[in-house]
Amino acid sequence: MMQPDQDHPEIRDAIARLCADFPGSYWREHDRERTYPSEFVQALTRAGFLSVLIPEAYGGSGLGLSAAVAVLEEIHGQGCNGAACHAQMYTMGTLLRHGSERQKQAYLPGIAAGSLRLQAFGVTEPGSGTDTTRIRTSAVREGERYIVNGQKVFISRAEHSDLMVLLVRTTPRDKVQRPGDGMSVLLVDLREAQGHGLTIRPLRTMINHATTEIFIENLPVPVENLIGQEGSGFTYILDGMNAERILIAAECLGDARWFIDKATLYAREREVFGRPIGKNQGIQFPIARAYVQLQAARLMVRQAALLFEAGKPCGAEANMAKMLAADASWAAADMCLQTHGGYGFAEEYDIERKFRETRLYQIAPISTNLILSHVATQVLGLPKSF
Ligand SMILES: Cc1cc2nc3c(=O)[nH]c(=O)nc-3n(C[C@H](O)[C@H](O)[C@H](O)COP(=O)(O)OP(=O)(O)OC[C@H]3O[C@@H](n4cnc5c(N)ncnc54)[C@H](O)[C@@H]3O)c2cc1C
Repeated sequence: MMQPDQDHPEIRDAIARLCADFPGSYWREHDRERTYPSEFVQALTRAGFLSVLIPEAYGGSGLGLSAAVAVLEEIHGQGCNGAACHAQMYTMGTLLRHGSERQKQAYLPGIAAGSLRLQAFGVTEPGSGTDTTRIRTSAVREGERYIVNGQKVFISRAEHSDLMVLLVRTTPRDKVQRPGDGMSVLLVDLREAQGHGLTIRPLRTMINHATTEIFIENLPVPVENLIGQEGSGFTYILDGMNAERILIAAECLGDARWFIDKATLYAREREVFGRPIGKNQGIQFPIARAYVQLQAARLMVRQAALLFEAGKPCGAEANMAKMLAADASWAAADMCLQTHGGYGFAEEYDIERKFRETRLYQIAPISTNLILSHVATQVLGLPKSF
């Protein structure tokens, strides 16, 4: 088996042990039925892995981002999937960095203990995916509450979360100086909201991701649930994106490792024309190339995580880490399928499932095109195209 990154080996060992209780058959069944892997999420929560980033003062372990990187990379390296619960790690950061002390006291200890789930993050809308500033979900203040109207799409885990971080417009786009102004972040209590203006409808997709559409009609949200300043919400969301990109990149590293391990093992064992297929350079080289890509991506993920932990600017590194890691996992997925011939398509090998799952990272949470655009304009100073 390929060695994982050696950062936080104790966390990686513990995750590997936990994941051993959730073999491929567990994930295949949930994938087939499109059901939520609650047992896996509960096991991670009980062991304290979902609260590694919550400060000790609020009941978490107060570790840095590289600890969360270790958790998510190892989950994926073991063939499991962190998508059922990863959002809690970075969504919580919005509350931690921009919430009031009262809000932090009210929510973070429950999230750390697992009695409160903050798994939903509502940004994307049917009319605005990549171009976030065009969201139309609006919140209009009426006394001590906002009245929210609008629609969100691809909101993952909403049915399995108690709270949702929701991005809304509090001032119309044509009434603000810059397109990013006039948006705000509300913490919506989904337990109270459902049936009182908020409806969740599951959206079946190519992967088991518990994604939903959310319809909002005259939903009252107390003003005390506003996070930070009204009108500054977009900066808070942008602020959380570096952590999100680095953590998703970690999942990609784990996927790439899993595909390479699986392909290497198979190439050693599968005999065709009287010899192992792995003896052919036509089989070896794609595996070796995937390994080289993985190691290069790993360096960039580590660099981005170190900068993030040091509180230094890391926008370019986080974006590049996400792109390199997503490309490495996709290349490894394709190689693994090819190495397995027809058997790669058989469900029981788990490759076709992981292949579908890792394809997501070319698009969400940010697409490769938008990362290239960021590097072109923000790093290289080329003119903006939009
Ligand atoms: C399984 C899944 C789970 C998700 N979970 C969540 C969630 O929990 N919360 C949430 O808020 N969102 C979520 N999303 C939404 C995701 O973040 C968006 O799909 C993504 O941001 C892209 O938006 P879009 O789908 O509207 O694509 P569009 O914005 O319509 O873009 C379509 C394509 O055009 C490209 N493109 C657009 N503009 C340009 C340009 N100027 N230059 C070059 N290329 C361009 C894009 O890169 C993309 O490939 C999820 C999506 C999926 C599929």
